[in-house]
Amino acid sequence: MKCDKSKPINDHLLRSWIRCRRKAWLEIYGNKQKKFWTAHSTLQLNHQIDCFHHLSQKSYGIGIQACEEGKNIAYGIRLKYPLIKNRIIKGNLPILKKTTGKSIWGNFSYQPVLARQGKKVTREHRLILAMTGLLLNNLQKYQVKTGLILHKENKIIKVEKIRLTETINTELIDSLLNLEKDLESTNPPPITSNRKKCTICSWRKDCNDVALKEGCLSEVSGIGPKREVLLNKIGISNIDELANIKHYILKEKLEVFGKQHGDISNKIILQSQSQSTNKAIKLKKAIELNKLKEAKGWLIYDIESDPDIKHDFLHGFIRIQSNLSNKMNLEKVKYSPLLNLQKDNESSLWKRIKRKLNDQEGFPILHYGETEPTSFLKLGLRQGASPNEIDKFKKRFIDIHLLIRECWCLPVRNYGLKSIAEFIGFEWEQSNTDGARALLWWRQWKKSRRLNNIYSKNLNSIFKYNRDDCIATLMIAKWLIDQE
Ligand code: SF4
Repeated sequence: MKCDKSKPINDHLLRSWIRCRRKAWLEIYGNKQKKFWTAHSTLQLNHQIDCFHHLSQKSYGIGIQACEEGKNIAYGIRLKYPLIKNRIIKGNLPILKKTTGKSIWGNFSYQPVLARQGKKVTREHRLILAMTGLLLNNLQKYQVKTGLILHKENKIIKVEKIRLTETINTELIDSLLNLEKDLESTNPPPITSNRKKCTICSWRKDCNDVALKEGCLSEVSGIGPKREVLLNKIGISNIDELANIKHYILKEKLEVFGKQHGDISNKIILQSQSQSTNKAIKLKKAIELNKLKEAKGWLIYDIESDPDIKHDFLHGFIRIQSNLSNKMNLEKVKYSPLLNLQKDNESSLWKRIKRKLNDQEGFPILHYGETEPTSFLKLGLRQGASPNEIDKFKKRFIDIHLLIRECWCLPVRNYGLKSIAEFIGFEWEQSNTDGARALLWWRQWKKSRRLNNIYSKNLNSIFKYNRDDCIATLMIAKWLIDQE
């Protein structure tokens, strides 16, 4: 594969490269059939539209003509310029805002604006702003000193001013040069050691296959970027090497970097053994498993949320009146979705959830991870539940995620609900769905609801997805019992 210098680098490619060097390379040379759609880019785009809507003013226009006419806002400008030697850099500037200065158009200038999701301003935001700033400098012949970043916090749009200093501009040019170097290589850069980034990446199926084939240490649950570096330092570079080392040797070597690294040595050896042999390894029997065995019926609980506005919009339950050791007919499982349309109107939701839990008083409540008990208890406190009442509910919660981690090492790259369910052979009815997709459906449904289209397909898709999350949790609990 030969690098094509005539191919411009654009802001999209730079964004990908900042997230993961390999991603940028794959965007150019990867087999597009291996790339799959994720809901994240649509969520990001919708969020950007919401934020930019906030800046809407009477005086606006489209393209460079809007700048020439001195409009307050200029939309949709595309620029290109060789910011680095022999390479055109293309930038898509969705929105520019008029500010003070002296440009070629008069006694004013423009500054770039971008929208961000997530909790804080990152290197990605700064560098993209710097890139659009430098392209704009060239157009307006006046230096862009600041850029704006918009983000939504509890439905309110906040505006942050970012200074575009020489240091950021130098970092940008270095990044563009390094990106160019990566694109000149015939081989893709290595898989990122911070595999958390992969969870929202459209190339993850392809990269997961490669990582497994190459035995990358980042594949092992419990090994993050820092621990991978430490393992490399002591001469361990792949899963097989880790699986075959003696526990006491690894412990001694890792303890040099801190006791906590030594303490985890047994766990990561077992995890790598499970992954390299593709076999489940039993660790111990947890006391909580007895509760699972004995109960005559169950509630399984799963929440869907909109994290941007901290709104748990769906509390889904399934009820099952049977011992977990028995054969189950999933068709007969009763699913009850409790929708919470307004974040600020929780009192009726709390009453409905309480009624549901009290109607099945003796039933333990299964859930996967910390979200459900934490959100439930916070909701109860906000609604004035007594400590006694909270305590009574608390005792009924059983975290299947904790149990599986305590009792088993499984041949999976992480212990998320999807991975474990996949391992035991459970499939979601709707393919390629995840929490982000459910959030997108929810936001689309909220919009369509305003148009009186209350029973849209989107709401049914959310219910189906949430029901399957509950059933996956149930099936993992059953798997735990069946292995006893
Ligand atoms: S899946 Fe991970 S390693 Fe692969 S391109 Fe995406 S972020 Fe990079």
